[in-house]
Amino acid sequence: MNETCDRCGPAVRAAYRAVRGGQLYLCQHCTAQLSPALRAQGWTVWPAGHNSLGGRAAA
Ligand SMILES: [Zn+2]
Repeated sequence: MNETCDRCGPAVRAAYRAVRGGQLYLCQHCTAQLSPALRAQGWTVWPAGHNSLGGRAAA
């Protein structure tokens, strides 16, 4: 996995992936800040290494 944080930009590696209609990659910092709000909106937040939903292209 070499995904980068969608909020911080390409300099920051993503540690988590949020999935709803699409996918959002987040670093640990952003996940800590955003995951409660994302989960409240129906997003599922996975560790980025979790692969049960296939690759990013599947979105
Ligand atoms: Zn970030």
